[in-house]
Amino acid sequence: MCSTLKAYPFFYRRSEHLELAPASLLPLLERSFGFSCFRANQEAVCRAAIDGKDVLLVMPTGAGKSLCYQLPAIARGGTTLVISPLIALMEDQAAKLAALGFRVARIHSGMDRADSRQACMDYLNGTLQFLFVAPERMRVPGFPEMLAKRKPSLIAIDEAHCISQWGHDFRPDYRMLGQHLPSLRPAPIIALTATATPIVQDDIAQQLNLGHTARFIHGFRRENLGIEVVEVAKSTRGQFALEILSDPERRPAIVYAPTRKEAETLARELSNHFPAAAYHAGLEPKVRESVQCQFLDGTLDVVVATVAFGMGIDKADVRTVIHTALPGSLEAYYQEIGRAGRDGDPSRAILMHAYSDRRMHDFFFERDYPDAAELARIYSALSADPVDVDSLRSKLKMEQSLLDKALERLTAAGGALPDFNGEAIRGDNAAWRTLYLEQSKRRRLQLDRMARFVESNQCRMAALVHHFGDVEDALQPCGQCDFCAPQRCVAQKFRAATDEDQRHTRAILKALSSGVSQSTGKLYKEVFPREEISRTGFEDMLGALATAGMVEIEDTTFEKDGRTIPFRRASLTLRGENAEENDGIENALSGMRFKSDRPATAKRKRERTLVRDPFHAATPPDKIVPRKQTSTEPLAPEAALCEEQLRTWRLAESKRLGLPPFFIFGDKTMRAIAMERPRSLSDLLTVPGIGSAKADKFGAAICSICRAD
Ligand code: ADP
Ligand code: MG
Ligand code: ZN
Repeated sequence: MCSTLKAYPFFYRRSEHLELAPASLLPLLERSFGFSCFRANQEAVCRAAIDGKDVLLVMPTGAGKSLCYQLPAIARGGTTLVISPLIALMEDQAAKLAALGFRVARIHSGMDRADSRQACMDYLNGTLQFLFVAPERMRVPGFPEMLAKRKPSLIAIDEAHCISQWGHDFRPDYRMLGQHLPSLRPAPIIALTATATPIVQDDIAQQLNLGHTARFIHGFRRENLGIEVVEVAKSTRGQFALEILSDPERRPAIVYAPTRKEAETLARELSNHFPAAAYHAGLEPKVRESVQCQFLDGTLDVVVATVAFGMGIDKADVRTVIHTALPGSLEAYYQEIGRAGRDGDPSRAILMHAYSDRRMHDFFFERDYPDAAELARIYSALSADPVDVDSLRSKLKMEQSLLDKALERLTAAGGALPDFNGEAIRGDNAAWRTLYLEQSKRRRLQLDRMARFVESNQCRMAALVHHFGDVEDALQPCGQCDFCAPQRCVAQKFRAATDEDQRHTRAILKALSSGVSQSTGKLYKEVFPREEISRTGFEDMLGALATAGMVEIEDTTFEKDGRTIPFRRASLTLRGENAEENDGIENALSGMRFKSDRPATAKRKRERTLVRDPFHAATPPDKIVPRKQTSTEPLAPEAALCEEQLRTWRLAESKRLGLPPFFIFGDKTMRAIAMERPRSLSDLLTVPGIGSAKADKFGAAICSICRAD
């Protein structure tokens, strides 16, 4: 069956116009693999490998990467060496190739010695077309030398992201491959993976010492998926999800919730309206299985899941994927929205977020990546003799949670080696600190990228495609996201421009008319020195101008204190420059659509919370600017009661800690807490004056006071 009809016209067009068209690979494809056509990009990749070029191939799972080394293997003749990290994967591919009649052998730890020896002999005799090898084999003395005795004609490295510590699945055994490859050359190397951001790609190429590499980064665009990103206050997201999913056309759906508890609460709420259930790792395996089955067979319309969901799920007709919180990385986000519309029919991915989400991630980041000094204390206390972790804790006077986290990180960076008896020794990587700092920087970068994605004014799909490294494909807007097609949005609401909007818009265009691009933060201050409109409103307005093709917004970064800080520049497009002259501006402006007040209480809430300025070059994104103090307003009775209780608690706490009360929280902060009465840590983090350190220490106590009233 031919699954990519699109490949046909492309294929023939090329052959017609190239006078010296290289011999078609199609007959070989049909004869050897029984496929009647190539899938997108397969042929170009095969050709590069056949020509002896090193290849780095990044395409999503299921795109058909294996064929891209298998066909060149046959075309080049000789033996192709395939390095593959998972025994199951290796067995599966070897069996498939053997079934097609190829001569295949494999060597891994799950086989007996005689079979492995036979495989080596067959390899040396040159009777194999494919030899599959697990990477740890390279550690076996004599094995790489044996391979080098008879050079392979092609080397394929599957799941190549495992070689990079920036990939999500780093395998130290993969790391050593680079050392052994030179002795197996001059065979071309083809590295294959489904997940590699440009950083990981570079790392793979460097680690494997790839020569002039042909990079093929393809297939990340999803043609039938309209992405919407919408700012919604946390407290109203459940209701909003319900509104969206009430339309039966938008189901079946998957809703991603940040915690198990939230998944359960929302599932319960939704199940009053249509068949819905929660799915997360905390459920009994039996329950999970039954939810999964019911979702697959259509008994359940909606599954509310934590990230744990979906590893094995392949339901083709999911119409909507909703995120009720900001995901931790674009990689995770892309994978999750990828579950929508596998049948090819139009589908939507709706991401709800607010600034509090970012603070929540910051909070977890600080908890999960302790100061390197804490790791250093543990490292110095360790030696070659095992020490008991409990006694280490009392010796270092470190809190249990901090010690656990710091030890975990130190271990990951190679500075510690804990064992199963609760003891640990010093690890062999004396340079653990560099590695740790890099790891935490990467994590920070992932969070920054995610935040930038939701804040940016550009085609959502193009942004994702660009993130995964397909720069060329990223030039093409998708035509269906909240940026490209505001009129088709389901979640993001828009309104026509008012007279006032038009006035503001003209002011922006005028300020840009000098022709140079400007940082949007500076532009905002210049055009709206008295904050006539909010910063968010201003960004929305720029977004509308960009959608109308009058302004171009460029995402860029600068380095400050070792951190990469994102900001944006805006400039006029040709159309924007000529708008006034062409008299088209009236039309353009009246036709423009602005993000309307975000659903429900977003506005009121935003007024009270903090506004940060992530785009203005002079202001690092972690600097928070309090917008409006709330301390002079009279309190509602419940708030007053809550404030009273908080004061009592603060007094007790200050006695316990031997600190003055205002060291715990100032009066203004207490009042702000009383007004918001946060019930969860994430709500608490939206209150002005609450940093993650305080939330960590006092959050549980405060939330329980606030929940009590
Ligand atoms: P990946 O490694 O990219 O995840 P695979 O190489 O395992 O994907 O291929 C996924 C499926 O697609 C396999 O069942 C494979 O047989 C099939 N496939 C690959 N190329 C073609 C093709 N040109 N025509 C039809 N099916 C193909
Ligand atoms: Mg594969
Ligand atoms: Zn788009």
